Amino acid sequence: MYKLAISLLEMDYRFLEQSLKEIEAAGVDYVHIDVMDGAFVPSLGIGPKLMERIRSSTELPFDVHMMVQEPLRLIPRIVQAGADMITVHYEACEDVKKNLVCIREYGRRAGIALNPETPLEVLNEELLEQVDVVHLMTTCPGVEGQSFIPESMEKIALLRKRLDSFRPGMDLEVDGNITMKSIGRVARAGANVLVSGRALVQGNMTENIRQMRNILQSPEGGNVYEVCAGS
Ligand code: ZN
Repeated sequence: MYKLAISLLEMDYRFLEQSLKEIEAAGVDYVHIDVMDGAFVPSLGIGPKLMERIRSSTELPFDVHMMVQEPLRLIPRIVQAGADMITVHYEACEDVKKNLVCIREYGRRAGIALNPETPLEVLNEELLEQVDVVHLMTTCPGVEGQSFIPESMEKIALLRKRLDSFRPGMDLEVDGNITMKSIGRVARAGANVLVSGRALVQGNMTENIRQMRNILQSPEGGNVYEVCAGS
């Protein structure tokens, strides 16, 4: 039920092929690829050329998160570079439905991402009809070194209720400083696709992935890391 997605932004690309083999063996579900344009968000992320290099080194599905102003023009190139799922930001599109329809026309899964300040009310039924996954940002997108926004917990729980009443079991993805400390709580609140970057790629990746997987196997039971951290 729970899916773990590893964000590659903080990875050391000198060892990309080797790292991807390690990730695959350790058992993550998706490779999460952050595409950024320096306009919708201040940073630059992974581009199609690097995506192609990653594609040639792993069979894992690509979960592409487009933090890009008006992503429609780039969707064909991102599909060509190997995307399996493509998520666009509600805030970045003049016509977000058009983007979602385009992604599905390419036979890919379509996601809609909401920034922390964007209310859930923007997700009307017409939009949800076109969506396979709703992606909630739990930090501001494209800005490094931020903390998890605590108010996200309530938002995740509300969204889970809303999605289940629309289409039971619909994917709810969270992205933004998901760590050993927060992943259990976020999963208990209702998220089922968990994106983690730094907490997985720093140090021993295999061990990090194993620990997060363990937490996700029984998030209802709480997790030892929360207790250790006193949070
Ligand atoms: Zn992302």
